[in-house]
Amino acid sequence: MRNLSFDPKDLEELTSNAKQIQDDVLEEILTLNANTEYLQRFLHGCSDKDLFKKNVPVVSYEDVKPFIDRVANGEPSDIISGKPITGFLMSSGTSGGKQKIFPANNKFFEDFTSVYALSSQIISKHIDGVQQGKAVPFFFARAQSTTPSGLHVSSAFSSYLLSDYFKNWSSNRFTSPNEVTMCPENKQSMYCHLLCGLVQREEVVSLAAPFASSLVGAITFLENHWKELCSNIRSGHVSEWITDLSCRDSVANILGGPNSELADLLEEECRKKSWNGIITRLWPKTKFIETIVTGQMSQYIQILEFYSNKLPLYSPRYASSESIFGVNVNPLCKPQDVSYTFLPNFSYFEFISVDEGNNEEIVDLVDVKLGCFYEPLVTNYSGLHRYRMGDILQVSGFHNTAPQFRFVQRKNVVLSVSAEATTEEDVLKALNHATLVLKSSDLILMGFTCYVDISTLPGHYVFYWELKAQTTSDVVNLDNKVLVECCCTMEESFNALYRKVRKREGSIGALEIRVVQQGTFDSLMEFFIFQGASSSQYKTPICIKSSEALAILEKSVLARFFSDKVPL
Ligand code: AMP
Repeated sequence: MRNLSFDPKDLEELTSNAKQIQDDVLEEILTLNANTEYLQRFLHGCSDKDLFKKNVPVVSYEDVKPFIDRVANGEPSDIISGKPITGFLMSSGTSGGKQKIFPANNKFFEDFTSVYALSSQIISKHIDGVQQGKAVPFFFARAQSTTPSGLHVSSAFSSYLLSDYFKNWSSNRFTSPNEVTMCPENKQSMYCHLLCGLVQREEVVSLAAPFASSLVGAITFLENHWKELCSNIRSGHVSEWITDLSCRDSVANILGGPNSELADLLEEECRKKSWNGIITRLWPKTKFIETIVTGQMSQYIQILEFYSNKLPLYSPRYASSESIFGVNVNPLCKPQDVSYTFLPNFSYFEFISVDEGNNEEIVDLVDVKLGCFYEPLVTNYSGLHRYRMGDILQVSGFHNTAPQFRFVQRKNVVLSVSAEATTEEDVLKALNHATLVLKSSDLILMGFTCYVDISTLPGHYVFYWELKAQTTSDVVNLDNKVLVECCCTMEESFNALYRKVRKREGSIGALEIRVVQQGTFDSLMEFFIFQGASSSQYKTPICIKSSEALAILEKSVLARFFSDKVPL
């Protein structure tokens, strides 16, 4: 295992020598992998870097899936990687409706540990006293599945939490014992994280969750369970429904005996009508919140600022199942201005230009241009070569010679509340299925659009539908049963991750259809054309982001319907 205590000097060294380090990384990977079946086809056993760029194609998941599946099914991992594969990481991205899995080995965990160590060093350089206190972690290690070859599969973050790397790193940094993080039952784990955090409130200097959606979910959970949590603190007894024994024992230990004084204090804060600043009221020594608030997570900035009284939101890293990319070296910047400095030792990075007219030109890490937009390509230590990430980034600056990127968007994702990523294709498929249900009634779908409503927590998907009756002129008779069925059908058609997050974790609320008056979509079109859209090429946006456009839809809502069961 590499040295866990990352010296900030390394950051300067790494970013000053980005070109040389990237060259060395590529050489190392090619030397390791030249004889893999995957690369043999293009390089014939040679590990020459120029030949790599000339012959090895840029690929997406469909191209590498057959190789990944073969390893998952028991063939030796050296068909793709000279460094043995020790497990798989389940991505939140999907391919053909199924979640993607990526091969991994210890390099991933070493890099993850380095990034954690580095971001902790960075924040403590900017805020005094954070090393002396603890963080309340909203970390959940989900159960792993196993491939036919016997290798474990779980999300990147779960795999890290389950590894010894995390166990070594976490000791004494968090208010929750590892047993709580490892508890396979989500609700028990969440409850115990909160209980441990509240009991040790005097020591708490930060709250941490991998993504902002999980932090918002934790506060919503607290809103629903504070009375019970306070009653446990008052009596010194953990609720009976916490049945996971190791979790229960470790929490009972932290709870100690009855503490009515603390219970009174917490109850007084929770009972107040407004939850404005609840985080700083319950944990008065909190100095910052560590969670990703860029990309799809930016929708939660406002609510987190409300809950935390505008504490600094530190968005620490940009990472994925394919590779770790970089860290945010400017932790106190505004959440809207976050960028990530790429570290050249994680993988070999190339970038496809996605600016119009640039013809998909591919450049190296150190050759990207300020202000330009790119999609990263990853060549990593676990069998991916020139793999298209599907993320769009913009160069926002340089730290020494290493570029810094602003996360712009994940390609094609139109809706996301939590960890799930629903694409345009998913939305269209779901609508196709729902319109089959509509066929049984007198109604035809004339127009639709959608958005994510996070004003209710957990957030949920809202579809605006304009309907027309087939047999009557303009009066639409809305059959509750049919429209509720449409909501359910759409949810059942969404990808596996949506259904999992909605069902198992409850982090997505019931899907809603809002039926709007006839003519609403014409008004919407007029609005967009007034804003500059071309009238001859106008198409209703699949997903609405503008608040003015939403206002047009909202004022025409005739009725609302919600799915009444969680999807299978
Ligand atoms: P997964 O492979 O499931 O871990 O998901 C990785 C994806 O999550 C990336 O490709 C990004 O689309 C997204 N992601 C990861 N880190 C960030 C970040 N800091 N900001 C925005 N999106 C992120």
